[in-house]
Amino acid sequence: MGRPTPCLPADPRTPRAASRGQAPYHPRLPARPAGALVRLAEALPLPLYVVETDGRVRFSSRMARALHPQGLPEVVKRWLENPQACGAPLETGPIPLPMVWQRLQPAGLSCALVVARPAPLLSADGLGSHPWQIALETGRFGFLEFDGSTQRICATSHTLSHLLGLPVTQLSLPYEAWLERLHPDDRPLVAPLLSDPQGWLQGTASLEYRVRHANGHWEWVEQRSLLVAATPEAPRILGLCQLVTSRKYAEIELIRREQQFRTLAENTSDIIARYDLNLRCLYINRSVAHYLALRREDHLGKRAGEKGWPKKVAERFEQECRALVATGQPRQYEHEIELNDRRYVFETRLFPEYDRSGMLTSILSIDREVTETRLALTLLAEENRVMEMITGNQSLAETLEQVCQMIRSQLPHSRVAVLLANEATLQLTLIAQAGLSTALEGALRVLPLSTEDGVGAAAANRQTVVVEDVAASPLWQARQTLAAAEGVCSSWAVPVMTSERGLLGVVALFHGERLTPGASENRLLFRSNHLCAIAIQHDLQQRQLYALATLDGMTGVFNRRHFFETAEREIQRVRRNGMPACAMMMDLDHFKAVNDNFGHACGDLVLRAFADECRRQLRATDLIGRLGGEEFAVLLPDTGLEAAREVAERLRQRVERQPLSTPRGPLHYTVSAGVSALMPGDTSLETLLHRTDGLLYEAKRRGRNQVVADPPPRLR
Ligand code: GH3
Ligand code: MG
Ligand code: MG
Repeated sequence: MGRPTPCLPADPRTPRAASRGQAPYHPRLPARPAGALVRLAEALPLPLYVVETDGRVRFSSRMARALHPQGLPEVVKRWLENPQACGAPLETGPIPLPMVWQRLQPAGLSCALVVARPAPLLSADGLGSHPWQIALETGRFGFLEFDGSTQRICATSHTLSHLLGLPVTQLSLPYEAWLERLHPDDRPLVAPLLSDPQGWLQGTASLEYRVRHANGHWEWVEQRSLLVAATPEAPRILGLCQLVTSRKYAEIELIRREQQFRTLAENTSDIIARYDLNLRCLYINRSVAHYLALRREDHLGKRAGEKGWPKKVAERFEQECRALVATGQPRQYEHEIELNDRRYVFETRLFPEYDRSGMLTSILSIDREVTETRLALTLLAEENRVMEMITGNQSLAETLEQVCQMIRSQLPHSRVAVLLANEATLQLTLIAQAGLSTALEGALRVLPLSTEDGVGAAAANRQTVVVEDVAASPLWQARQTLAAAEGVCSSWAVPVMTSERGLLGVVALFHGERLTPGASENRLLFRSNHLCAIAIQHDLQQRQLYALATLDGMTGVFNRRHFFETAEREIQRVRRNGMPACAMMMDLDHFKAVNDNFGHACGDLVLRAFADECRRQLRATDLIGRLGGEEFAVLLPDTGLEAAREVAERLRQRVERQPLSTPRGPLHYTVSAGVSALMPGDTSLETLLHRTDGLLYEAKRRGRNQVVADPPPRLR
């Protein structure tokens, strides 16, 4: 338009006069409002213009541009040019909508806000209820004008009341009073704005500071400032202020929590990391350096598979993350990882992290090393299994095999053997093993109980023998080639002993590298040895108890009760299998005379010698029992009558021909025997033995030292 004369009426009051008279203050708006103001204006669903006194439009809001692409409507221009008309709202229509135009800066300003709104919304109470005003107030926005010439601050209505809790009617206050209300920490920040606005505004136009409210609390103010009059004598700054107290406290709280999180995250031994949804690392704490050589910074931006994790571990991690993304639920799992030849067990927990709108943004991962706990629990479980096997009377070999497994659960790379000691034969015999190759197992099957053997020496000296370098040790000389071929570099052998230091056996460990036992390995060896000792002694006791309960103490053959029990079972078995069986009853002849002539002790020797001879002549599957005194019974399963008779005859002849040598010369003795085959009508062992006893009686009757068998068998 370029008119030389102002088209807007001049405000008769200076700012000083305005503040004195407490008239409403309206800021002199800048040609281009500052960012926050622009945002506010753009967001308003109304056309809004900033119009200079010469009629030029300096700013139009988005809505204004949309409704009137050509600029300020002509009718509005004419209305603005007419000072009288400007006091009242202008109604226009119907293009494009019925509008009421309103000028919000009525007097004495270099520019004005001109706002239109749909006609039906017009309320009667004028400016104060205008949406623009309402928006400013409800948004807790306010304009402050810092006037250097008067050293006063003027404010739009409600601004000072919002910020400082001053009466709504107060619209200005001196710089000094303003500065007094600033937080002492923030004063140095704000003071330069007042003392040297030109210099200051070259820096930043944005400030955050605290002001004391009349109620005594502090309010946080965000202020965007613009220098609108640049003369050094009378600088004027326009500030768009917003109360941001709650946001600020939330930020402070957030920072405090973030710091707490960092302090926690940086000082825990757990590995704490954050991953984006592409599973790239965003953050990782320093604990990771305990486990991975990769520098902490080098984790950032990398996926699990790119950080040097074993493939299986990376795959599991990614799979769990995918499950988390799919379900939105935290995940927890345990995994093992081998790093630098050490096995670690980690318990990993994954948590989803959401933004304020509830969108999943990242995954927090916490890895806790639980190796020691897991190993201790595994050891405990394995120990319990061994104890259960011992008390459950499992075979000694199986129980000791479990001890070997227990050792390998803690030292997975070791190979383990348990050998039983026989001090009579000066030998160690392999009874259980884990991880041994066939060749190594063969070589360890029987070892000399000798101080010159890597394993045997532990038994011979009753001391742990650690051979750190098998290749250089004389104790391994005899098995050097085998050790090299089998990759045995070091060996530990620990004697298994009773509490009275009686030798029971040896536990031996073989390693593929040169190792010596540390504190935890020594503890493991102690515990496993202890279990071996318990198992072996328990087995011995069980054997002794069994022998006491089942064997005849003098001869070592079955006692009467056990013979009857086992023979009865055996008869049932051969019957089921349709096999033959025979019984043999034997009685030493004139044994009373043996006792009388040679003494009772020699009589005992005869009984033992006879039992030994029976064992020699009979098969391992035949059952021998001492039924009492000098009377013995034998059950020969899977044997026909003729074969049984031959056995009895052979035995009789051996006894007859082999006198026992005694101090009083050779002791000749003889035996009589009856032999009978199991017949279909024999309902029990007793029937069979009864018939056999009859045949024995017949042998005695015929003159002793002879075998009487059934007449030819009538078996099925
Ligand atoms: P026969 O030829 O008729 O069998 O005559 P016998 O003397 O062997 O028979 P008898 O039953 O008259 O005597 C058995 C003897 O065996 C009596 C007993 O002193 C002896 N005897 C039984 N048990 C033992 C033992 O454990 N040790 C010893 N030394 N003798 C025993
Ligand atoms: Mg007799
Ligand atoms: Mg007798």
